[in-house]
Amino acid sequence: MTSDVVRVARIVPRTIAEGPGERFAIWVQGCSIRCPGCFNPQFWGARGGTEQTVHDLLDAVPVDVEGVTLLGGEPFEQPGALGVFAEQVRARGQSVMTFSGYTVAQLQSRAQTDAGVARLLAATDLLVDGPFDRNQ
Ligand code: SF4
Repeated sequence: MTSDVVRVARIVPRTIAEGPGERFAIWVQGCSIRCPGCFNPQFWGARGGTEQTVHDLLDAVPVDVEGVTLLGGEPFEQPGALGVFAEQVRARGQSVMTFSGYTVAQLQSRAQTDAGVARLLAATDLLVDGPFDRNQ
């Protein structure tokens, strides 16, 4: 069964810094990738942050923003609930941008056996993929 709960580290309801247009940004809690030089090591732990339902997150997204941006932490480590959330955001006519430390090839491979990953990938309009490289 798909969880309808997302572990959230931080939300900014309106920002123009996280993708095209004005967006609702969610930093999810938990990332096992641990890139050297990561800007958000406080979001690595799987037990911090707060649990929020997909329903409550949808209610919090302003109707007049361009879309939602998912950052981390690692969104694809909570793909089930975030996949449902992303689908609902798109059903409202808003866009979904997702940052992931996994490469698109890794995600496509995982999507073969993980329905949540397939769902979040399919509901993402713009994917920024791959681990953080402090040399770039
Ligand atoms: S994937 Fe993102 S949150 Fe995770 S360690 Fe890398 S830069 Fe940090």
